[in-house]
Amino acid sequence: MIEIDAITKRYDGIAVVDNVSMVIEPRTVTVVVGTSGSGKTTLIRMINRLVEATEGAIRLDGEDNRSIPGYELRRRIGYAIQGHGLFPHRTVAQNIATVPGLLGWTKARTDAKVEELLTLFQLEPRTFGPRYPHELSGGQQQRVGVARALAAEPNVLLMDEPFGALDPIIRAKAQEDLLAIQKHFATTIVLVTHDMNEAFLLADKIAVMDKGRVVQYGPPAELVRAPATPFVETLIGDAERPFRLLSIAKAGAAAEPGEAEGEPIREDRSQQE
Ligand code: ADP
Repeated sequence: MIEIDAITKRYDGIAVVDNVSMVIEPRTVTVVVGTSGSGKTTLIRMINRLVEATEGAIRLDGEDNRSIPGYELRRRIGYAIQGHGLFPHRTVAQNIATVPGLLGWTKARTDAKVEELLTLFQLEPRTFGPRYPHELSGGQQQRVGVARALAAEPNVLLMDEPFGALDPIIRAKAQEDLLAIQKHFATTIVLVTHDMNEAFLLADKIAVMDKGRVVQYGPPAELVRAPATPFVETLIGDAERPFRLLSIAKAGAAAEPGEAEGEPIREDRSQQE
């Protein structure tokens, strides 16, 4: 469990994350949404202490993250970012072995983990392990980025716009894979995106950030039924109708007759172009 307790981050006296509290349950997917500059990246980077909080505390299974050594945080919390952040001069296998290397794993244990993850991500280990990132497609690089983040078997996976650079079909596959991986490893996932469809597709809970504050935090269906602010309402309006309906169906709540029916289905975009 991740407890975010009245956390604030200030730069030059200005709060970019402003007194945020939320509890993230284990083995759930939490999606943080909001406009650019609303503090999403800063918030998740305080979980693994890439950013130090100005005020407040974050506890991981009851333990203040400031009392957890850096290497232990790297082991417990995987981190995957947009653009994948792969080291260009290291092979795929060496990239995935980064954190195990820092943790002093034996070669045999590291090699076995690299093979396991490459196989899981449908990248044949003997073919892809020795390749360099530039020899891979965008979708393959993205999978290696997530594999690297999972290498030390973290309990928590932080993902910052992990699918942002992918084209729509590969993106859909990557989103599907993520849910499978979350089940496979029972990982707690905290994912930042500006894409509301993605939020509705993946989230157990959505946290909406607006100007450094979390203005609503709850299951997608709750956001659809009772948006807390006009800003949340606008964000929800940006999601495609099928995604909103999906969130209600997933919650097991039969949509009230007429509910979520208020808006027409969007025109097929291909006809607008
Ligand atoms: P988001 O992820 O929602 O786009 P960020 O967390 O990246 O938002 O940034 C929130 C605000 O904090 C922005 O206004 C950004 O310019 C500012 N900010 C982020 N990092 C720094 C930094 N290292 N120094 C000063 N300001 C920063």
